[in-house]
Amino acid sequence: MFLCLLASRSQMKGSIDTGCSAHPSLNDSLQGEIQAFLTDEDQLHTYDDLTKVNPVTPTTVLKCLQARYSVKVFYTHAGCTLVALNPFQPIPDLYSLDVMKEYHCAPQPQEFKPHIFIMAEEAYRNVRGQLEPVNQSLVVSGESGAGKTWTSRCLMNYYATVAASSSVLKSQDTVERIERRVLDSNPIMEAFGNACTLRNNNSSRFGKYIQLQLDRCQLLVGASVQTYLLEKTRVACQPASERNFHIFYQVLHQTQKSHVFRFVFKDSFVETMDAMVHLGIDKEKQQQIFRILAGILHLGNVRFSPSTDETQPCNLDEKSKGNRSAELLHVSAEELLTCLRVRTLKAGKQSVLKPCSQAECSVRRDCLAKVIYALIFDWLVTFINNSICADRSTWCNFIGVLDVYGFECFRINNLEQLCINYANEKLQQHFVAHYLRAQQEEYVSEGLEWSFVKYQDNQSCLDLLEGSPISVFSLLNEESRLNRASDARTLKLRLEKELCGNANISWDRFSTVPHFTVAHYAGRVSYQIEGMVEKNKDPVPPELISLFQESENLLLHQIFADKEAQNPTTKGLGKVTVVSKFKNSLESLMKILHATTPHYTRCIKPNPDCKPMTFKKEEVIMQLEACGIVETIHISAAGFPISFIQRYGLIARHSNAVGSNGVLSPVTLLPPHCFCLSDMYHSLCLILCHMFACLSREKHKSLL
Ligand code: ATP
Ligand code: MG
Repeated sequence: MFLCLLASRSQMKGSIDTGCSAHPSLNDSLQGEIQAFLTDEDQLHTYDDLTKVNPVTPTTVLKCLQARYSVKVFYTHAGCTLVALNPFQPIPDLYSLDVMKEYHCAPQPQEFKPHIFIMAEEAYRNVRGQLEPVNQSLVVSGESGAGKTWTSRCLMNYYATVAASSSVLKSQDTVERIERRVLDSNPIMEAFGNACTLRNNNSSRFGKYIQLQLDRCQLLVGASVQTYLLEKTRVACQPASERNFHIFYQVLHQTQKSHVFRFVFKDSFVETMDAMVHLGIDKEKQQQIFRILAGILHLGNVRFSPSTDETQPCNLDEKSKGNRSAELLHVSAEELLTCLRVRTLKAGKQSVLKPCSQAECSVRRDCLAKVIYALIFDWLVTFINNSICADRSTWCNFIGVLDVYGFECFRINNLEQLCINYANEKLQQHFVAHYLRAQQEEYVSEGLEWSFVKYQDNQSCLDLLEGSPISVFSLLNEESRLNRASDARTLKLRLEKELCGNANISWDRFSTVPHFTVAHYAGRVSYQIEGMVEKNKDPVPPELISLFQESENLLLHQIFADKEAQNPTTKGLGKVTVVSKFKNSLESLMKILHATTPHYTRCIKPNPDCKPMTFKKEEVIMQLEACGIVETIHISAAGFPISFIQRYGLIARHSNAVGSNGVLSPVTLLPPHCFCLSDMYHSLCLILCHMFACLSREKHKSLL
């Protein structure tokens, strides 16, 4: 409840957001409050908290955000959450060192105009805790291109500056040593994990949770990164008009050979190389990595054609025979080309060689490219962690920043989207449980007269996806274990039979493509079943693993040896499927999030074309609905005055300021001597609060 009051105090004093000064004058504050009650459309841009909008409807919230966007104000509070509108253009001085200092050094940063730095600073101060230090999590969500990664980078820059262990707040140049290394993890991970997509030129194709480790003096002493589900299929095939991971273009730009390769289509390589050097990836290792990347590209150009004799392996054209991938990957060319075209089947102690079809050869080639790339990515993450993670004895608390892919709904959706949307369901559940439910239960436990505001609880959707014993994931895993030839058809039949009573899943009976549709909290998504079981199995031919364990490229040799050690498949002990692995990693993340104090930022993409200063209402309203902003505002707006009066009612009642109906009387409130809160400012705030309470109650009644 204390937090609620703190937040609300800023609502009361509230900054009038004119877009020019961080610190509002008192007059401005009061004026803004009064305007809030009048709901003057001309003044909508001044509302720094959406709880002030009256009435709170999707339309009024939208209007307010649009009004603010038009005057270049991009941050707005929505009760406990922060809404961040993407300007799609650099805003001078919005994130400068001076602005950081202003928010960091302010006694009450909440009184400044909304900014991501308020949230950052609140988390930083919370770590100290009142009784004991509390770990914090900053959860940044939004759809692709909304600004999650940008926001996460801003947060990391903020902590690398205000919590710098080297020297605090001298100049940007002082962000060095550990701070520098922590920040340098970004360009490396973005080079290897981001790609240009139709929705975002720098789209993260993996999820990331970075824990910034703070010592007893709250100085940044290290960090650790956990990544989730890299979209490795992109290495071998990209959706139309999309690109491969940035690193390929960076390397190729150096060699001016981007036109030669089928797997890709140029970019800044220097930043990635510098970051690698700072993190301790020496020249030799870099060379190994770049050779491997070049090897992957050459591998993509190996082509197969069917053999006239079915008992013989597929044919290779002259170019493919002389392909340089084996040379770059330091394995025998002959063995590589054989492993790509011939399967080794084990029957007891005997091995039988079976030529693969042309399609199977291509699948094996692409599978090899994907596994090598994913292993390099994992190796880099481990290396980064070894380089930036502080010794456990040196840090006491952390602030975690979560940047995961937003909800996805394409024309064709498969296992990747199912996993991504499942992750978003989990995060939404965390938000609902931690904020919407927890706050309302707190009101009740404090004896407040409270009727629950309805919000969308997504537990039933999560049960459908991950529940036991029968769920989409359990059926998918079973089909993956059974290794049936007609897996798509049987999976479809089983989903229909076993989950037909579930309201969250449906099928278009007339569709010829096997699919299922899930009613997610953010919308309905149809998933194509074809290929899902295979993707879930994510098989890597054991012959290829054995071959690469013998690679003379030390890095390849090491990562394939580690893979064998970690993965029991190749030893025949059964395989961990993609969804099982993802579910486990998400569960660990949820445990961490539950054990921390969360802060939510909802990034909003104002238009689908990533154009500066373009606000498309339909796009924005869909995103607001998807993240339940209106419900959040209702709960924040309705809860505050009740709790406020509950707390300050005593003071006021003592001074006859409260009528028998428990409502503060503005007339009796006026004389300042009536209050323990003696100054005029607080008196006026109380009057405003009273008005706010009445209005909110009316609003609340009409809602229930
Ligand atoms: P994805 O889910 O695809 O990774 P994302 O939510 O991480 O998307 P970002 O990459 O952070 O999106 O943002 C997309 C682009 O929007 C950035 O490359 C940048 O050009 C612009 N952008 C985002 N936030 C801001 C901001 N606060 N100021 C200026 N430009 C911004
Ligand atoms: Mg991103």
